[in-house]
Amino acid sequence: MVVKQSICLLGATGSIGDSTLDILRQHPERFSLFAVAANTNVKKMTEICRNFLPKVAVMGSLKARDALAKQCEGLPIQFEWGEEAMCMVASSPEVDQVMAAIMGFAGLKPTLSAIRAKKRILLANKESLVTAGRLFMDEVAKHNVTLMPIDSEHNAIFQCLPQNASGFQKHHVSKLLLTASGGPFRHWSLEDMRSVTPAEACNHPNWSMGQKISIDSASLMNKGLELIEACWLFDMTPDDIDVVVHPQSIIHSMVSYDDGSVIAQMGVPDMKVPIAYGMSWPSRITTEVPHLNLMDVAQLDFSAPDLIRFPNLKLAADAWYMGGTAMAHLNAANEIAVDAFLNNQIGFLDIATINQYVLEQLPAVPVTSLEDVFEGDKLARNLAKRIILSGKNL
Ligand code: NDP
Ligand code: MG
Repeated sequence: MVVKQSICLLGATGSIGDSTLDILRQHPERFSLFAVAANTNVKKMTEICRNFLPKVAVMGSLKARDALAKQCEGLPIQFEWGEEAMCMVASSPEVDQVMAAIMGFAGLKPTLSAIRAKKRILLANKESLVTAGRLFMDEVAKHNVTLMPIDSEHNAIFQCLPQNASGFQKHHVSKLLLTASGGPFRHWSLEDMRSVTPAEACNHPNWSMGQKISIDSASLMNKGLELIEACWLFDMTPDDIDVVVHPQSIIHSMVSYDDGSVIAQMGVPDMKVPIAYGMSWPSRITTEVPHLNLMDVAQLDFSAPDLIRFPNLKLAADAWYMGGTAMAHLNAANEIAVDAFLNNQIGFLDIATINQYVLEQLPAVPVTSLEDVFEGDKLARNLAKRIILSGKNL
């Protein structure tokens, strides 16, 4: 008999939130929704509350909480707000699994709360692992937590590695091959990329995702963050990982072994697949995702990434080797730069320029506590904002 799992969904109104709710809708006998959390989107949260009747719903502010409570009057739901409440639901004794799908650095504290409460972590929020990597992984080990990578590439690598208690140990692995679609500007010249609009950058060829990760995919910062994410998850360095541009997004990543074998995980690009696997591991459940028909795909292409046109990927490797707070600096600069690009304050290519400037200007200091990470994040955000405001030609 399957024991029903109780889920806390952080980032319920987002793209990963949508896909997670689809899996819950399809498997009511396996999963129940204990809590949902989001920032400002009251309209969507109202729909979720009405459809799923979670026990608790958390919004980012008191105003949003009150608006939601008003919309959901009469429903047996407890309404809360703020980061502390998100940490509380993520660590509630009634929860088995926490989907960490808040966008950006804001996801760090609730995810850590869930780890400390020994929940199964379904990790979509890569920024929390990128910024606080060593501390994050130490907490995972200390609390003996099952950490399921939801990012499709890392989920693929997890599936291609031999399974054991932790799932992440190296067994004659020679390389990880991290695939990248190359994003919408794969063939664009630097000159053409200079004037792209946020709408063009958000228009990903294969995946439908939130705005920030879509921009990151277009600038290859997403692959940079994923490179660091893979280093932490699988105990590797950037030199152990090859990024392979594979525009069809059918192979989600590969593991190359010492004996010459390469194991790949494939499927139609849809986040419901890694989400369902994370939630059901070590078993599997059905999804409504169409099965892969290789005859339809016909061709799979591979090439090396262009680090001249997409410098963010190299910056991420640099940040890893700089160590300490460097990864928090890079992530924070990028969050600010992407936001400024989305608000038409800077051009697309300025994102990487700002990231590089912040990474070079701020000295990386060792991370001995969470405060170090928060301080590094703050310094980098402030520096990136100052550059943007000054309109400085970098
Ligand atoms: P979306 O932008 O679609 O959704 C983000 C979610 O986070 C929303 O629910 C949003 O709430 C919530 N949120 C944002 N800021 C805060 C905050 N300060 N406090 C609480 N909640 C907040 O993003 P995605 O779903 O695309 O991505 C979520 C995470 O998953 C990211 O870290 C991304 O890198 C990662 N990921 C996403 C993939 C994808 O295919 N989408 C693939 C792999 C990883 P509100 O709507 O109210 O603003
Ligand atoms: Mg990914």
